[in-house]
Amino acid sequence: TEVAHAPLDVLGADVTVPLVTGGEITYAALDYAASAPALKRVWDDVAAYAPYYGSVHRGAGYLSQLSTDLFEAARGTVAEFLDCRADDELIFTRSTTDSLNLLARAVPAGCQVYVFETEHHASLLPWQHTDVTYLDAPRTPADAVATLARALESRDTTAPALVCVTGASNVTGELWPVRDLAATAHAHGARIVLDAAQLAPHHPVSVRDLDVDWVAFSGHKLYAPFGAGVLAGRTDWLHAAQPYLAGGGASRKVSRAADGSVEVEWHENAARHEAGSPNVIGAYAIASACKALTEAGFDTLVARERHLIDKVRAGLADVPEVRVLSLFGDDAPRVGVLSFVVDGWNSSHFAAALSAEYGIGVRDGLFCAHPLVHHLLGATAPAAGECGEATSLNAIRVSFGAGTPDEHVERFVTAVRELVTQGAKLTYRTENGRCVP
Ligand code: PMP
Repeated sequence: TEVAHAPLDVLGADVTVPLVTGGEITYAALDYAASAPALKRVWDDVAAYAPYYGSVHRGAGYLSQLSTDLFEAARGTVAEFLDCRADDELIFTRSTTDSLNLLARAVPAGCQVYVFETEHHASLLPWQHTDVTYLDAPRTPADAVATLARALESRDTTAPALVCVTGASNVTGELWPVRDLAATAHAHGARIVLDAAQLAPHHPVSVRDLDVDWVAFSGHKLYAPFGAGVLAGRTDWLHAAQPYLAGGGASRKVSRAADGSVEVEWHENAARHEAGSPNVIGAYAIASACKALTEAGFDTLVARERHLIDKVRAGLADVPEVRVLSLFGDDAPRVGVLSFVVDGWNSSHFAAALSAEYGIGVRDGLFCAHPLVHHLLGATAPAAGECGEATSLNAIRVSFGAGTPDEHVERFVTAVRELVTQGAKLTYRTENGRCVP
């Protein structure tokens, strides 16, 4: 079921960029894993709604009422997209990072948290105030399940516990055995949250089927770049927790007590963690993207992506200098995300040449997953530097999705071959953390 053309129209398909060697070329956006281009459908839906925009949950006017209805309908659409259980709650946040931090603030006292060292920093770091155990990088999906089982076996089962795991790696694109990890967590009385930032844009995510307790993802990686994200799942911990943000909207009743203090009754629904005026457009855009992906059909999207992945893998396999990074082995199933290093090349210079000489946008760096990239590169000493900063100990990542035409991956494979065999046309150096010719 090969699909010849990109199944969904994205913005930016006609954008041209200058080449340092002269002339212009259409931009090949191969950095979907950082932020996917907006779906044209999402942009059009937002533009159609924009004149009717109004405050949500705080206005008597017609447009406020309409916006409130659309905001709440968006919640339902996204919950359906995630195949949530009937009694799950869906909270609109800013991003995956925000969602996981929210959950980290809501875990019960004494909660033991288990997280693999291979996680993106958004799922690795929010737990530092808890009793957190960092698990070593597994060699296979089965090893991941066994590693988790071993760690949970010795735990004190009277304490609450939570496992946080990615569905698809933002570095290798590899799929993690989420269903098995969830079963293992539950068998040991632990809960599990799925970081679906890289999974949701590429694969159907069913909370019910995977049996995860919570799921988090970001709109901007799901073709809806309007600053919203999602946390969905079980209500008990969320309703027992202090609100993530204190403020209007989260409080049901606020009064001055006889002793002069201020007493608050917080909502016991999604509003509890959505204080302040919500990002209505962001939520609306995510719902629009969910509808567009569902209508395009994940069977089509997955088949299309497999075709692109195979093309990239086959193209790179002919270039012995290219080393593709993988935790679970070359044949492991993956989404359209792939990182590599090129023998003899500084990854940042290579990425800069792809941009300047071929009009291809990829990412270089450590991809906000420093321990994982260090592990994959076999480095013991962490490379200094912030997320994304160019160091010699980094990699190159190419990623694509529902709007990627064949020409972009073909141009990428040709460019890699030419750079490796003929060298770059210019020399590159790093200046102020940026690579320039
Ligand atoms: N988890 C994974 C696996 C990711 O790839 C990313 C983004 N690179 C995040 C979490 C964080 O997403 P955001 O920056 O939208 O909060």
